[in-house]
Amino acid sequence: MKILQTFRAEDVATVYLGVTSSGREVEFVESRQPPFSREDKHVLVISCMVGCPVGCSMCDAGTFFGGNLSVQDALEQVDWMVAEHYPRGDVTTSKLKVQFTKMGEPALNAAVLEVLEALATRPYAHKLWPSISTVAPARREPFFERLLAVKERHFVGRFQLQFSLHDTDERRRQELIPTRLWSFAQIAAYGRRFLSPGDRKITLNFALASLDALEPAALAASFDPEHFLVKLTPLNPTYRAQETGLSHPQDEVRAEGPELGRLVLELRQRGFEVIVAIGAPIENEIGSNCGQFVRRHLGLSAPPLPEGYTRVARAAAP
Ligand code: SF4
Repeated sequence: MKILQTFRAEDVATVYLGVTSSGREVEFVESRQPPFSREDKHVLVISCMVGCPVGCSMCDAGTFFGGNLSVQDALEQVDWMVAEHYPRGDVTTSKLKVQFTKMGEPALNAAVLEVLEALATRPYAHKLWPSISTVAPARREPFFERLLAVKERHFVGRFQLQFSLHDTDERRRQELIPTRLWSFAQIAAYGRRFLSPGDRKITLNFALASLDALEPAALAASFDPEHFLVKLTPLNPTYRAQETGLSHPQDEVRAEGPELGRLVLELRQRGFEVIVAIGAPIENEIGSNCGQFVRRHLGLSAPPLPEGYTRVARAAAP
């Protein structure tokens, strides 16, 4: 791994722009998750693709696709950050979270499963909490079946699975995420099977521009609070969101005001655990947040693509 540029928001996050040994340009992030210190919980966020073919309406990484990263490309990101922060080889944090959420849709790259298998052999594997966030693309059942098996084999009680829903109206959700998707019924059925005793509940993530996108009754009609919890985040201020008219989240989402409080209360009354995750503003300034693509933040064009790949402005509609 060769690091091209580093962007640091001290004590919150560092974004790395690097080139792997195979010549793929990647973005990855190390951060802490306030209020936890890095000794309690250290978060490594890696890419599994160069760009992304899905083309979500709020994501800068989805404006081009340069192909899947290999197992080696993905592991180099983890290994580089581990070596940087634990130079003596002793991973001292209590919990090392590895999230596949920087660039790319994990379910569209089967190498992610091999990366998980490889991480399970690392000396610090007992401290490892992998986290997969997916939009649940259709026709990826073999990936999800193998993911369940990998979790059962290595990470029971230490795996975080997140489905990005963004809207409780499936038609509007489909417009935000322009690829064929699992229905809510399919996600709910998979979630029931995925969880073993001791496992963390599966997260249903909503990156909200408006509170209208989440209707608690509709959510409860599809998802069982025994298996799923809800995470609310304000939509990050990506360039893509501005271009597609999603723009900045309304103040009611960002400011944790009374409207957001009422929504959280209603979800809790329906039995859902709710996490409200509002990042530090400095994370937007360095582009470390989900959906942000540092090269674009810098006004640079997308990285060079290997032969056979072309840029896409947006994935084909289903
Ligand atoms: S949000 Fe995820 S699935 Fe959508 S374009 Fe971005 S990286 Fe791809």
